[in-house]
Amino acid sequence: MHALLVEDDDRMARALGTALAQRGHTVRRVGRALDALRHVHEAGFVLLDLGLPDLDGLELLRRLRAVCDAPLIVVTARCEERDIVQGLRAGADDYVVKPFRMAELMARIDTVRRRTDPRSGRAGADPGGAGGFDGRTVRTGDVEVDLAGRTVRVAGVDVRLTRREFDVLAFLAARPDEVHSREVILDRIWGDVFLAASRSLDVHVAGIRAKTGRSHLVRTVRGFGYQLGSPTAPAQGDGAR
Ligand code: CA
Repeated sequence: MHALLVEDDDRMARALGTALAQRGHTVRRVGRALDALRHVHEAGFVLLDLGLPDLDGLELLRRLRAVCDAPLIVVTARCEERDIVQGLRAGADDYVVKPFRMAELMARIDTVRRRTDPRSGRAGADPGGAGGFDGRTVRTGDVEVDLAGRTVRVAGVDVRLTRREFDVLAFLAARPDEVHSREVILDRIWGDVFLAASRSLDVHVAGIRAKTGRSHLVRTVRGFGYQLGSPTAPAQGDGAR
């Protein structure tokens, strides 16, 4: 796929360009906002640095979104919650803070591309993550999550979760191979990424673990977010990051 890399730092651009090329993408790198606007129409996806010499990155993001629907990931040193919120609100599909691990960024690109694939519909209108999974049951260990029926069974016994708890579990279960950032979960399920700093999500995850009696059903990826876990596996969340 063709990537538009908007990055004014040469070293960073080289590293990203190499990694993208290794994964089979073609890359156009631009260092200025005006060039980004000129070339965005050809992009299959966009990586956007916010600190650019000729225009504020958030303003560029808004302008890009006005003309282009391609998946877009902000890659920036700005790590304040306010910046992340503004970036997501302005239409970024994900937000990666520098310094980052290249493998993680590449995985997030794949995730965003899948999520925004027009054939599957954008997930923004799909708060529980269950749309498109009608009739699908996700099994991990002895836990069964029926996404359409909104039921959870552990060792064959129904477990009652609250609506929000189920939403969180279903969101993770619908994409079990992916790690989901706190911001994305909160934005999709609560509709409010401002909650990212709050304990709401952790409380719901704790509820899921307690009620199912499977503490590894939800895996914590420290400092980032959560993933569906394997309830029979030994503790594995702590070293993940
Ligand atoms: Ca920069």
